[in-house]
Amino acid sequence: MNIVVFGPPGGGKGTNSRKISEELDIPHIATGDIFRKEVNEGTYLGKKIEEYVEAGDLVPDDVVNKVVEKRLSGPDCEEGFVLDGYPRTKEQAEALADVAEIEVVVNLDVSDDVIINRLSSRRVCSDCGEIYNLEFKPPEEEGICDKCGGELYQREDDTPEVIKKRLEEYKERTRPLLGYYRDKGVVVDVTVQEERPIEEVQQEVLEKTKNALDIG
Ligand code: ADP
Ligand code: ZN
Repeated sequence: MNIVVFGPPGGGKGTNSRKISEELDIPHIATGDIFRKEVNEGTYLGKKIEEYVEAGDLVPDDVVNKVVEKRLSGPDCEEGFVLDGYPRTKEQAEALADVAEIEVVVNLDVSDDVIINRLSSRRVCSDCGEIYNLEFKPPEEEGICDKCGGELYQREDDTPEVIKKRLEEYKERTRPLLGYYRDKGVVVDVTVQEERPIEEVQQEVLEKTKNALDIG
């Protein structure tokens, strides 16, 4: 069960890939989460990529590919994995194809206004990574994670200027990748609109993913 969740920043890649990971019991691998952790901990890798992440630029392919290849070789990935935020360039997709065969790409089809709204009101748990939204999915207690009691924070790259940059990168470098996966016949499309409840989108994502994997 090798799955990629694909879509623009703020389109729901994180929320939906976490759901798939829970339901199918396979690890959720988010390159953005991995990078933020390295930056916060001030590791060697963290220092090398800090500038890119903070500016909303893509981290260089060779760095990202090495990190992902290592992660996918872990024993917990034997039954499969959900990738969130990777691949983001043609080079990354090709490097991924060398180490794993992707069976499903869930394409979250999202409009720009949804993106900007979501990102600016997004909050994330500093402990478990659960994603909240002050408008659509607020925590029960302000600033506190419902799941684990951890503290919620706003990502440093969720500012209007950096959001704009991330969107540009997505349109220029990442979105064209869809064609590559469409040619392989592995893409399922899910439309995300402002009015659609998160649960409904998650349900559709799960159903379509299971169908594509032939596990009903
Ligand atoms: P989003 O999709 O909401 O922009 P992510 O958490 O997936 O956020 O990524 C945050 C940042 O981490 C990106 O802006 C980029 O700097 C870096 N990053 C994450 N994944 C990749 C990748 N596959 N290739 C290059 N850079 C990446
Ligand atoms: Zn939490």
